[in-house]
Amino acid sequence: MKKKIFINWILPELLLLALFAVLFAALPKEKKMEYNKLTPEEKRVIIDKGTEMPFSGKYVDYHEDGTYTCKRCGAVLFKSKDKFDSNCGWPSFDDAIPGAIKKVPDPDGIRTEIECAKCGAHLGHVFYGEGLTPKDTRYCVNSISMNFMPVKDDPLDTGYFAGGCFWGVEYEYQQLKGVKSVRVGYMGGHTANPTYEEVCSGKTGHYETAEVVFNPEEVSYEDVAKYFFEIHDPTQADGQGPDIGEQYHSVLFFKNDEQKKIAEKLIDILKNKGFKVVTKVIKEGKFWEAEAYHQDYYEKTGKQPYCHVFTKRF
Ligand SMILES: [Zn+2]
Repeated sequence: MKKKIFINWILPELLLLALFAVLFAALPKEKKMEYNKLTPEEKRVIIDKGTEMPFSGKYVDYHEDGTYTCKRCGAVLFKSKDKFDSNCGWPSFDDAIPGAIKKVPDPDGIRTEIECAKCGAHLGHVFYGEGLTPKDTRYCVNSISMNFMPVKDDPLDTGYFAGGCFWGVEYEYQQLKGVKSVRVGYMGGHTANPTYEEVCSGKTGHYETAEVVFNPEEVSYEDVAKYFFEIHDPTQADGQGPDIGEQYHSVLFFKNDEQKKIAEKLIDILKNKGFKVVTKVIKEGKFWEAEAYHQDYYEKTGKQPYCHVFTKRF
């Protein structure tokens, strides 16, 4: 009788317990976040949500090329290209690195506070509707909450991909983990400052291209490039989907030998699988950013991409 109870009741319980133990052991262990030590003045602003005196901060009148990071945890927050002179006395940006900023209602009931999304450090406030830049947004940030990283130390990497209508390529890359920003534009042609109409005429030699900025600690270039071959059809020679023309051709632009080798390796793998890949592998040229209305097209319009669908090929 006792034996029966053991088999019917205790044994299943034990097995379940063992299963939980195995599952728990397999869970990824969260790394303990190491924060930088703060001075009392840094603590007053970053932890106690204070504000530095206007026109007193290091980055108010600062125009170097690079990335602004969180003073406390080192996370990337803002790009210098999004900084503008607002004359308000604090560094101002009209855009942030996607996912970097957390917005919370300020206890004053009026303003919106901004924090580092990674560690919660107080950064400042965000304001809309002031009409200062086309993006109509001002992230007003305390200099003391940030560090600055010149371009040469930038931890982010970039890849350029042309795979048909750039709205779709941009949309798909915005879904990939580790991608920090995507811009659409033109590359590979022989004219300066091309417009959409000029590129569409087919006379500029440019391809509709997506600039993909990613964090190599979260996603490798190889995975970013692999994804490219799975969000468009690399075997279509005359364009992509219903979009026909040279500007819609499949091109992977590499910036160095390492990227080139990875691209060629991936194409070989696909060819061995029977895909007749026509993707060109070309040294990257100057990237001409497309007109504002092409950026984040699907996000702005709420439409869905018509010719880019993820299809597993590797
Ligand atoms: Zn932080």
